[in-house]
Amino acid sequence: MKTALLLSGGMDSIAIAWWKRPSLAITIDYGQLPARAEITAATAVAQRLGMAHHVVKVDCRSLGSGDMAGGTANEHAPASDWWPYRNQMLVTFAAMKAISLGVEKLYIGSVLSDGFHRDGTPAFVETLSDLLALQEGGMTVSAPAIELSTLELIRLSGVPDTELALAHSCHKSDVPCGNCRGCNKYFKILEDLNDGMAGPQEPTPTV
Ligand SMILES: [Zn+2]
Repeated sequence: MKTALLLSGGMDSIAIAWWKRPSLAITIDYGQLPARAEITAATAVAQRLGMAHHVVKVDCRSLGSGDMAGGTANEHAPASDWWPYRNQMLVTFAAMKAISLGVEKLYIGSVLSDGFHRDGTPAFVETLSDLLALQEGGMTVSAPAIELSTLELIRLSGVPDTELALAHSCHKSDVPCGNCRGCNKYFKILEDLNDGMAGPQEPTPTV
């Protein structure tokens, strides 16, 4: 079965690329502020895995909200990084590209903590998959890590540290701002990974 992964270039989608080895990867530049860095990270990961990589560009920034759009959060926003209907939009764009490439299943990188947003919950993914499958092509959506924490996903996937180092997680900029929900998660995961290391390894030097 031909599969595609929505590869944002963040830790979660990189780990899923290593775990599931999809046939191809799709990255969307939807007008998010860190688009360039996300594309760079995703391209590097796809190259290392020998995966075909497609970049789709559709500028939706004027419809966005919060950190990733460079504006104030919408009144409905549960957090500063909320972008209305973001995952629905991303899956739709990715599926629009994937259908022309013969893809039958589309992987997305939602993890347990994404359930904070309604579009990161299992019920949402199931509903979206049913909606896609109802249409021509019968494509389905799968979020294989939706019941896992990022740490559990990383360990399960076997993704090497050198690959995780390619990840771009900042929501606000191509250069990590060090103080957004994306950056905070990235640094916390690195810390947890280091804490979990057993044995006599030297600590990773900080830059
Ligand atoms: Zn940041």
